[in-house]
Amino acid sequence: MASTSVGHGGGGAVDAAEGIDTAGIDVVDPRTNTTIGRVPDLSPEEVRAAVERARAAFGPWSALPYRERAEHVLAVRDGLLDRVDHLVDTIVSETGKLPAEALFTELMTACETIQYYARRGERFLRPQRVSSGLMGHKRAVRYFEPMGVVGVISPWNYPFILGMTPIISALFAGNTVVLKPSEVTPLTGRAIGELFAGTGSFPDIVQVVTGAGPTGEALVRSGVQKVCFTGSVRTGKRVMAAAADTLTPVLLELGGKDPMIVCEDADLDRAARGAVWGAFQNSGQTCMSVERVYVHEHVYDRFVAKVVANTRAIRQGVGEGHDIGSMTFPPQVEIVEKHLADAAEKGATVLTGGGRVPGRDGLWFEPTVLVDVDHDMAIMRDETFGPVLPIMKVRDEDEAIALANDSPYGLNSSVWTRDAARGEVLAQRIEAGNVCVNDVIVSYGVPDLPFGGVKESGLGRVHGPEGLREFVAAKSVLYDRFGLSREAWWFPAPKALTPMGKRMLRLRYRRGLGAKLRGLLG
Ligand code: NAD
Repeated sequence: MASTSVGHGGGGAVDAAEGIDTAGIDVVDPRTNTTIGRVPDLSPEEVRAAVERARAAFGPWSALPYRERAEHVLAVRDGLLDRVDHLVDTIVSETGKLPAEALFTELMTACETIQYYARRGERFLRPQRVSSGLMGHKRAVRYFEPMGVVGVISPWNYPFILGMTPIISALFAGNTVVLKPSEVTPLTGRAIGELFAGTGSFPDIVQVVTGAGPTGEALVRSGVQKVCFTGSVRTGKRVMAAAADTLTPVLLELGGKDPMIVCEDADLDRAARGAVWGAFQNSGQTCMSVERVYVHEHVYDRFVAKVVANTRAIRQGVGEGHDIGSMTFPPQVEIVEKHLADAAEKGATVLTGGGRVPGRDGLWFEPTVLVDVDHDMAIMRDETFGPVLPIMKVRDEDEAIALANDSPYGLNSSVWTRDAARGEVLAQRIEAGNVCVNDVIVSYGVPDLPFGGVKESGLGRVHGPEGLREFVAAKSVLYDRFGLSREAWWFPAPKALTPMGKRMLRLRYRRGLGAKLRGLLG
């Protein structure tokens, strides 16, 4: 087991809490740059041992009827409600976000998803009698079976919900789980493990393995039946490549460069407030943050003025009474600085913000609004993942759509207009897995809406019926019903099989013929 530095610093001594005599990973509070904890950096053997524990738990868990699994997960939610303060404190201390952000976007969303699948999920997995097509004398049924152990790998920006959503879905579908939380936010991962370990008679259905990239790769290669990865495109491609060795299926929730389109007829007050919240909540570290705005030239000046005024009013700090906290991960701050430097060099103008908060330790970055930007700049093309809002003027909606789609990403997006029909048309034209009309980001909070990306933003969906079916294998069973002594096509082949086949082909598939026959027969 190696000592690992994760950008906050690492290395060192014994993990007293765990009693593990190993080097590990230091966890740092990004608001103050102080070390607040330490977790072990687990080896591939330890990952495999966790997968084996989860596999042993799979038999009894998957054998439970859906209702009983739902009862258990609801009991876990009760445990969550008893530990709200501890969970919020843990999330806040290792991400730098505000308590309210942790509460609403992480805990509330997890509870809502549990509620949704507890109430609605059973019918998504019920066996379905389907048409048996050509073989009308048989009965065709589609079953959905749990897969086994699911490996979940999560990022640092929403360490609770992005672990919980796939865990909840996989468990409701009858699987057990091994979670590898981000090495930047492993204490939240550990808190998730405690929630499940401390509830009822299935303590092993969720295992948590801490560590950095190699621990994640070990999980992908450990023989799990599915991997659900949430993180960057670059790592997502590596996960998919590793999974290809064993043909392990993957669900990939990756990055975004979400566009916002402001039409000439938009409610500019609402749009400006929405842009500012969408770009700066969680310090812009949301896969669905507003990362670029295209504004109709007729309303551009007024929109920009409102955005700048709203941005200057943002209260940045620790705890209640603030709008945003600090950033989380030092290398991410460097990416933000690199994008800003590239934009400045190519002619962009900073209207407010532009750098780290002066004189303050920790990862404090000013909310920054930029104009005079174009698609030659990294800030309009690559994921910035920080509190930066670049705004570009466009001639019309066609140009806005062309620019919005000029991206390898396609996660979320938004369209702002007072005309509902125009909103619907533009939503269809955007290449993205999700669109909000006159809002931003919040579609993730609706568990009945499947969430995920197109293009390089990912594969597969969480939430909705799709999100549950990601974690089952469809099994098709065709039942013979009448027990005839033979089927018409079995050996020895009847003499007239070929002419009979030709007649059947024509009768069954020639267009209009079926209707004519039915007419003749009255
Ligand atoms: P990351 O890709 O650096 O790391 C994500 C996880 O992968 C971590 O747990 C990391 O330890 C692990 N990992 C690293 N190398 C690995 C490997 N070779 N094999 C297996 N696992 C490995 O991402 P991050 O910086 O933690 O998170 C930010 C990124 O996540 C952003 O791009 C953001 O857009 C994306 N994200 C996407 C969604 C979504 O739902 N689409 C949600 C949140 C964040």
